[in-house]
Amino acid sequence: MSTAPPTSAVAEVLSGLPGVRPWLEETYRWLHAHPELSTQEHGTAARVLEEVRAMPGAQDLEILAGVGGTGVAVVARHGEGPTVLVRADMDGLPVREDTGLSYASTATATTGEGGTVPVMHACGHDTHVATLLAALRLLLAAPDSWAGTLVAVFQPAEEQFNGAEAMVADGLVERLPRPDVALGQHVLPGPAGSVQVAPGPIMASCDDFRITLRGRGGHGSAPHTAIDPVVMAASLVVRLQTIVSRQVAPRATAVVTVGRVVAGTKTNIIPETAVVEGTVRTYDDEVARRCLEILARTARAEAHAWGAPEPLVETFDHLPVTDNDPATTDRVRAALADELGTDQVRDFEPEMGSEDFSELPNAWGAPYCYWGFGAFDAARWASSEATGTQAEDFPDNHAPQFAPVLQPTLDTGVRAMVAATMAWLGR
Ligand SMILES: [Zn+2]
Ligand SMILES: [Zn+2]
Repeated sequence: MSTAPPTSAVAEVLSGLPGVRPWLEETYRWLHAHPELSTQEHGTAARVLEEVRAMPGAQDLEILAGVGGTGVAVVARHGEGPTVLVRADMDGLPVREDTGLSYASTATATTGEGGTVPVMHACGHDTHVATLLAALRLLLAAPDSWAGTLVAVFQPAEEQFNGAEAMVADGLVERLPRPDVALGQHVLPGPAGSVQVAPGPIMASCDDFRITLRGRGGHGSAPHTAIDPVVMAASLVVRLQTIVSRQVAPRATAVVTVGRVVAGTKTNIIPETAVVEGTVRTYDDEVARRCLEILARTARAEAHAWGAPEPLVETFDHLPVTDNDPATTDRVRAALADELGTDQVRDFEPEMGSEDFSELPNAWGAPYCYWGFGAFDAARWASSEATGTQAEDFPDNHAPQFAPVLQPTLDTGVRAMVAATMAWLGR
């Protein structure tokens, strides 16, 4: 007979964590060493399917594969109760890993343009996949502790901003039960063992743009016979800096960045066209609309000043604001504090980065909460925080040196996901 003190349902589920920890770490190391670019996550999806099919009670799961490309959705129906959707993104980045880890990636991939690039899990999506697999496995192994429906979504192509969109376009809303709530998490700079959560807008909307300026080609020695799109582009890039500084209300939050300028082939040729590409980030759809309107107007005016043909202005890669539902976030925060300790729950600092996670719950109009969990050695982080030098002392996501410490990062991701899920499903 057990003499253990009574434990909560969350603790019952997580009592299985020590037993699956070697598998969790091995799965993570494999994922880390085998990153794949956006939309190419075939090996990752195959590993996810293999692991899910080996889980206890797998015969009762509904498993959808190849959703929106390489996406996988696993539905665990377990009696009456709410439906919780939990999401992990699966893709890596074209970055050459420089972490020195024994399980570092040496993978390469072929891009859409036909070139070969190194690939790395530089955004830590491997931690998302591994911790969601472990959370699912622990919940399936403890059926008496919960009731309801759990939907685990392994999503492709977050870094390309169209993986969630592709899954929705592939009939996700019709193929999955309607979630009452959706949950997602991201590994971020911060002390391992801690989480970061906040209600309201935490990540920006995104609208990428491409302006094709049309000039008139000619000889570099005779500019007066041509219309030079290179100088037009240079002038336009400078003018675009006044959108945020002079034309958006000071209290609004917006970024307009030109990240790519392409023109010409040779020193002495004035080219026909110049292409200016960039991104607009805001916390408000109306501000985004205004930035894009000013941007198009400025491009037309620049061309007009030169007597040039109308430029082509295109927008693409729209992402909504990630806007955590306050009531949902309260419940998640309380669950995270219960499991990890109040001192391990930090405020998520809103950032201008963007995420496509919310496109999944938005497809049903379901409320959601998205939070972060820390990646780095807590003692090192604390001394860095004391001097305010975290940004210099630790690599950010997407850096070639981004290397989450294995533990307690992975355990924390699992505990956070189980605790938050159980805030709806626990009994
Ligand atoms: Zn990323
Ligand atoms: Zn990411």
